Amino acid sequence: MAKKDAATNRAVIIGLGRFGGSVAMELMRQRTEVLAIDSNPKIVDRYADHVTHAAVADSTDEDALHQLGVHRFHRAVVSIGADLEASILTTSLLGDFAIPNIWAKGLSRQHASILERVGAHHVVLPEHDMGERVAHLVMGRMLDYIEFEDDYAMVKTTAPAEAVGRTLGEAQLRSKHKITVVSIKRRGEGFSYATADTLVRAGDLLIVAGKAVDTERFAELD
Ligand code: ATP
Repeated sequence: MAKKDAATNRAVIIGLGRFGGSVAMELMRQRTEVLAIDSNPKIVDRYADHVTHAAVADSTDEDALHQLGVHRFHRAVVSIGADLEASILTTSLLGDFAIPNIWAKGLSRQHASILERVGAHHVVLPEHDMGERVAHLVMGRMLDYIEFEDDYAMVKTTAPAEAVGRTLGEAQLRSKHKITVVSIKRRGEGFSYATADTLVRAGDLLIVAGKAVDTERFAELD
């Protein structure tokens, strides 16, 4: 198997709040080299033993970023929240460095749109996105919900009565509800791939994919 290119198997994380800190730790867990930068020395101290390199720097200072070699990274995450000016300036500097994958955290849609204009390739709105996700889960019809771009979603839900006692082929869920059952889990067993011959039993959990609105409707079936 080809080894990952050293330049691409590392990432710089700027801003080590709850969001940036989680990104840095998860990347380390995935064996990615992490350069973690924050302007607060106490926060940098906290991460010093847990990431590949931790540095105190003001990320709006172009020279400081250069000295740390940030311009040579292929992946960067800007996770500064409250200080909008610092978030936008930092993202714009990374854009000037022509880093090919810049992720930035936004606090609002307006903030997200500015971050995209100044050079972010991907903007995440963690609080907004999590709020939407929880809204789908809170009524208990869905046990998990992930929405992708273009209104496509995957949900975990219990098998509806109309499918119980039938195989997926017999239940015709795709033609009736415009969703695809991807995987199925029986109590006490792991998930297995769903096929036309898979028999659905009461209490089975289904992973279902389709347009967000169709998966929502499907999860509401009794
Ligand atoms: P979270 O919700 O992820 O905890 P937040 O959205 O409240 O964070 P802040 O706490 O404002 O965001 O910023 C995250 C981190 O970014 C802080 O640790 C802060 O010290 C750091 N930070 C802010 N401005 C700069 C800057 N100019 N250079 C480097 N780090 C910065």
